[in-house]
Amino acid sequence: MAQGLNPVNAVAVIGAGYAGMAAAAELAERGIPVTVFEASGRLGGRARAVRLGNAGGVTVDNGQHLLIGAYRETLRLIRLVGADPGRLLLRSPLALVYPGELSIRAPRLPAPLRLAAALLCARGLAPAERLAALSFMARLKKRRFQLDQDCTVTALLDFYEQPPRLRRFLWEPLSVAAMNTPADAASAQVFANVLRDSLGGGTDASDLLLPRVDLGALFPDIAARFVEQRGGCILRGETIRHIEQPAAGAGFVLHSAGAAYRCSQLVVAVAPYHLAALIDRLPGLDELCRQVARLAWEPIVTCYLAYPPPMRLAGPMLGHAGGLMQWLFDRGQLGGPAGLFAAVISARGRHQALSNERLAARIHDEIAGFTPGLTAPLWSQVIREKRATFACVPGLSRPGTRTALPGLFLAGDYVASDHPATLESAVRSGVDAARLCASYAADPAARSTFQPAAG
Ligand SMILES: Cc1cc2nc3c(=O)[nH]c(=O)nc-3n(C[C@H](O)[C@H](O)[C@H](O)COP(=O)(O)OP(=O)(O)OC[C@H]3O[C@@H](n4cnc5c(N)ncnc54)[C@H](O)[C@@H]3O)c2cc1C
Repeated sequence: MAQGLNPVNAVAVIGAGYAGMAAAAELAERGIPVTVFEASGRLGGRARAVRLGNAGGVTVDNGQHLLIGAYRETLRLIRLVGADPGRLLLRSPLALVYPGELSIRAPRLPAPLRLAAALLCARGLAPAERLAALSFMARLKKRRFQLDQDCTVTALLDFYEQPPRLRRFLWEPLSVAAMNTPADAASAQVFANVLRDSLGGGTDASDLLLPRVDLGALFPDIAARFVEQRGGCILRGETIRHIEQPAAGAGFVLHSAGAAYRCSQLVVAVAPYHLAALIDRLPGLDELCRQVARLAWEPIVTCYLAYPPPMRLAGPMLGHAGGLMQWLFDRGQLGGPAGLFAAVISARGRHQALSNERLAARIHDEIAGFTPGLTAPLWSQVIREKRATFACVPGLSRPGTRTALPGLFLAGDYVASDHPATLESAVRSGVDAARLCASYAADPAARSTFQPAAG
């Protein structure tokens, strides 16, 4: 050990979001103790609990999250760390309910029967619209959800002649919810992948899973206990400023404000906009830095409105089209305080120009439009995540898990996969990084012949 360096477990993880904690849990499960460095005092990163001081100390999330049945790795990891997804998540078959407009409920049937039955029983769709939706899915399935060339979701819907109401109430809301990118800019290929894995997937793949606990308690906090019980260590509030490599193959030194730590393998699981500052002193990673710098960002805004109980919505999740908010969640039906609603606006849009007060007032008006007897909210709180996810545009180039430096791996929702930026892609990338780390640690030959994958 070099002088002045703090020894940590051989494997270190920087970042305790869902990707970093998935990597740490997977390593711990394999008997590899790990040290996790997290800049914040709370775990979860872009999916974390937030305590609202001005609202009587209510704990909410930095943004309302929604999972689906196809999030198999996330569900597996929640089980791995000893929790029960059935208790932590409210699971129901896919239902898109727009009060007074349209309602589509997908029964638990195998694809393609599920969509056929959902469309057959949908309220508010004309026969021609039902047929157009079925034909769209059938034609995508026939080509195995693989497009000849990526284009925007709007261009895809144009090509398959999808009628305006289907776009407005079905395809565009699903697209923006999954990819957090407006349909006229979003990747049609990634959208096709999402449809393949959800509506075109197994019987329960399109189920909606709504957290009944905050996003810290859903996974990262329990994962932290799991890691610690297996000899790992979570250092909260410890920001790594930069990484150095003393010599080729000699591991890495992580510098924080007050200390330096040495490890032999490293999973960097920070958001892409924090990556370059960490790795810019390492050799051979210039192209990675350039690749990540090319990513653009999309915001997500969540507006919490607290109404006097017993105010309650017709269901835990409602859709809304034609206004500012896209989805409205009743946190009272999800283990939160009665009367607390969360309105979600994904991606860029005209709402960004409004002040928090104006935005909350506009959303209140939209809720009042379909909720007779709604009184003024007791309080409201707007949380704007300006860089919620990368913009999922056609033909995007994303870095791989391996880097040009042996022993240094990336994890995060932006790492190359055929999925958009979601909890599931973060978790999957964390698991992949952990597996590569484990095989690298176990096989000295792999170290000497290690070849980074092309990005
Ligand atoms: C408002 C909002 C709503 C969303 N809704 C959904 C949804 O409904 N469904 C869904 O699947 N996904 C949703 N997402 C996307 C999902 O939250 C992200 O894809 C996922 O959380 C990304 O996880 P990550 O681990 O890759 O990165 P992050 O969560 O960004 O984790 C990176 C971690 O690294 C830490 N870190 C950074 N720099 C350093 C450093 N130098 N030293 C130490 N630590 C550092 C950060 O503090 C952070 O904890 C939403 C995101 C937002 C913001």
